[in-house]
Amino acid sequence: MLNFKTITIAVIALLALGIAGGWGWQNIVLLVFGYATLLAWGSYRIDSQFYMPVICSGTTKEKQIAISFDDGPDATTTKQVLDILAAEKVPAAFFCIGHKLTAEAALLLRAAAEGHIFGNHSNSHAKGFGFFRVARVREELLQVNEKLEKIIGRKVLFFRPPFGVTNPNIARAVRQTGMKAVGWNIRSLDTVAQNEEKLLASVLGALKPGAIILFHDTMPITVNILPAFIDSARNLGYQFVRLDQLINEKAYA
Ligand SMILES: [Zn+2]
Repeated sequence: MLNFKTITIAVIALLALGIAGGWGWQNIVLLVFGYATLLAWGSYRIDSQFYMPVICSGTTKEKQIAISFDDGPDATTTKQVLDILAAEKVPAAFFCIGHKLTAEAALLLRAAAEGHIFGNHSNSHAKGFGFFRVARVREELLQVNEKLEKIIGRKVLFFRPPFGVTNPNIARAVRQTGMKAVGWNIRSLDTVAQNEEKLLASVLGALKPGAIILFHDTMPITVNILPAFIDSARNLGYQFVRLDQLINEKAYA
């Protein structure tokens, strides 16, 4: 299987054989470059399963999909998202950033009462999260779990890595906390989208049974397309189910 452990063992073995067999430096450079490329690919593709298991879709063949929102809560846009979800009767999963939680406790309680679930999206969402040591990653995860537990009274089990980046340190921290990594298989790219029609068309065009869609409840463009997205997906025969039901995993301990 193409994962970090087997690839590393294979590369070390190949390198030893190569050196013993009198390889030229070009071959060694090529091997090291190939290895580095694989490591980077594994790190940036959340569905690669390269460093750790990450649930990125449901297994259903039915036209069922789940929407998830990252990076909130936000006093303005999360509230607008909740209003739309309530009007459309769509359940969602919110992967929250820890440092934003305390100020928006009321919003979280509302979301919980309306049947949505929560996951952990790190405390800092720092750009350098992928370079943190195991203890620091674990500390971030525990901080968020504690804050969420104080507000909603439940211990969350789902973790979504910031930027979708995985590596051996994040893998170990997730294992140590007993959490489950949950990714996506449709990335809306709503944080960089400029055009509402294009964003809507690209997400609708990517829909498939068991899909987990990644949106951000911090983006006004996402709020703007959400009603049309829900209606169009339903017109295409899709049913919205909550993430934990789609992947058949418990969201809380
Ligand atoms: Zn994020």
